Amino acid sequence: MKDANVFVPEAGRDQAWPERPRNRIDRERSRNRIDLARVVSRARGVDQRDWVYWVKKGVKALTYYAGLHPASLRLGEGEAAILFYHKVQRRPVGVWGEPVLDVHAFEQHVAFLARQYQPVLLSELVAGLEGRARLPRRAVALTFDDGYRNNLYLVAPILARHGVPATIFITTGLVGTDGWMWGYELEEIFSRSPPEQVCQASGDPAIIRLGSLGLGPRVLMSACVEYLKELPHESMLDIVERLRAKFPVPVNDENRFLSWEEVRELAHQGFELGAHTRSHPILTRLPLAEVERELRSCRDTLEEKLGVRPALFSYPNGATCPEVTALVGRYFQAAVTTRSGLCARTSELLELPRIGAPVPVSELAFDLVWKVSP
Ligand SMILES: [Zn+2]
Repeated sequence: MKDANVFVPEAGRDQAWPERPRNRIDRERSRNRIDLARVVSRARGVDQRDWVYWVKKGVKALTYYAGLHPASLRLGEGEAAILFYHKVQRRPVGVWGEPVLDVHAFEQHVAFLARQYQPVLLSELVAGLEGRARLPRRAVALTFDDGYRNNLYLVAPILARHGVPATIFITTGLVGTDGWMWGYELEEIFSRSPPEQVCQASGDPAIIRLGSLGLGPRVLMSACVEYLKELPHESMLDIVERLRAKFPVPVNDENRFLSWEEVRELAHQGFELGAHTRSHPILTRLPLAEVERELRSCRDTLEEKLGVRPALFSYPNGATCPEVTALVGRYFQAAVTTRSGLCARTSELLELPRIGAPVPVSELAFDLVWKVSP
């Protein structure tokens, strides 16, 4: 394979880390070379449609529609599941024509969960795990990360129809702005402009190298996003801001964030609101003093705007490490990751696993029966 041994060239690494490492996380990170072959292989996963993929999909659909997920296997005593979502869209396809969770598929999820499980707020699930309250049988908590406006206009009416509660994690610095979540912004930029041109414009040798590998536009975009997620936060921001200046795209309806008035409306409707940092950095790529500023600012802003101090936190990109988790524990009672699995009474409350909700309800049903506690 042509790109099997591609690594970031020395010049690229020097540019990626211009400053001296400032703490242990930075030092560890700067010792590791970013392996572009691994980045490309992960990115290829987003577009993988081989026979194994179709067989797995077929088995999940068949077992769901044949009613073969035995109730006795669903979430045993003391177990619970936390699902995570981001956006629900009007259209069932995304920028690349790929299937995404639309209102129809989401309504199927919610109807299924209301019928087969016991949806609870995340705080109730946590209280159950801690033994402060009874944990209902087959408890499931729905969570939404980032704080998109569609959570109020598309998600809330569906949840209300089925009497299902949910928790939304707010990125306070993006509330009421025209800002983008940078990964979705890059997706939009790559889909509108010649991808090789975008890579050139980044000015980053590793991204330019990725642009020369002949990858399809979606895989190339994902590889760039994966690579950027591995950089220290400031280096990532520099590159994103360079691209933002050269390829400005206005935020669209699907990606727009809630305003504070809309956040308050969600609270009024009974949604639970948690913290998701101020500016959504990957916390393991940030000096610890800045991690603390992100946590404190987000918690204090939510308390000031809503009159309630948030107790729950969601790690951006699900990423944490012992130092970050310890800091989060000083500000919040419980926190969720994107590590896949079920929760049990033995789960670490500051690193709770979640299950990323797949699009077809048959796959959601399958995951809830066959996932295990990590
Ligand atoms: Zn997020």
